[in-house]
Amino acid sequence: MRSFEYAAPVTVPDALSRSGEGAAYLAGGTTLVDLMKLNVVRPERVVDINALPLTGVGFDGQRLRMGALERMSDVATHPAVATEYPVLREALLHSASPQLRNMASIGGNLLQRTRCGYFRDTAMPCNKREPGSGCPAQQGQNRGHAILGTSDSCVATHPSDACVALVALDASVELAGPEGERTVRLDDFYRLPGDTPHVENALAPGELLAAVEVPHLPWARNSAYVKVRDRAAYEFAVVSVAAALDLRDGVVADVRLAAGGVGTKPWRLTAVEDALRGRELTEETADEAAARSADGARPLAHNAFKIPLLRRTLTHVLLRLGGRS
Ligand code: SF4
Repeated sequence: MRSFEYAAPVTVPDALSRSGEGAAYLAGGTTLVDLMKLNVVRPERVVDINALPLTGVGFDGQRLRMGALERMSDVATHPAVATEYPVLREALLHSASPQLRNMASIGGNLLQRTRCGYFRDTAMPCNKREPGSGCPAQQGQNRGHAILGTSDSCVATHPSDACVALVALDASVELAGPEGERTVRLDDFYRLPGDTPHVENALAPGELLAAVEVPHLPWARNSAYVKVRDRAAYEFAVVSVAAALDLRDGVVADVRLAAGGVGTKPWRLTAVEDALRGRELTEETADEAAARSADGARPLAHNAFKIPLLRRTLTHVLLRLGGRS
């Protein structure tokens, strides 16, 4: 690891004044320190933001607000998250390990980097790590890579579980920067790779993710997160689905769906949602709608199995939330 300056500001303006070119914000450190040890990320200055007043979880009946520094385990065990947003609680509890959830912040979780093995190996080229160097995953080991939102420059998946639930719930992020504060829908916050895969989100230079807000949907109490992975714990998703279902007299009044493990960003499944609204929920209608999840998919040599796996996982979670399995 190369040497770096270290700063530990106690106010947001002070933190912003210390950011900029070559700087990296440090929260729980479960991603940043890892990548610094691998020499994948080499900041000249580390700005430790753990003393900033960006903590707390609040629910006022209209929305849930989480300070970016709130630890994942504390969000998962908050009473309002447990009762009003079970999909978020389940996504958090399916993430990483208890030790990592005690350390990792919710803001850091939203900003975590891909687990693509080529990205983490500095002996290999990677457009995300070194723009223009190439993407060996296109022709190499790509079983775990994305089938949706990919480009010729990058096919890496976004690794977070919580983001999948938050995108399904129409969450927003509050960003603080030298020019002031702004709010961005989480679905718009993430960028598709295109030909600039190193630009992963809408954060401007020096901007800080300050908080996450989730609107309240009373019917989202009927929600779930299903994660398919290669082992039962401490593993990233091969395919995951976040779902919330408003079923009235057997008919889908409303539904929210997003998928993980398949997209270059948490993937909202609006075509599937549209195919379900107003229809009776049966095994046939669920499966027929779930087939739309593959719209636009570009499978690689080793990951075409994700198309039927996503369809079946979606059908399973819809029928489970509908009390039909
Ligand atoms: Fe790098 Fe993206 Fe290609 Fe992985 S998929 S090697 S992160 S450019």
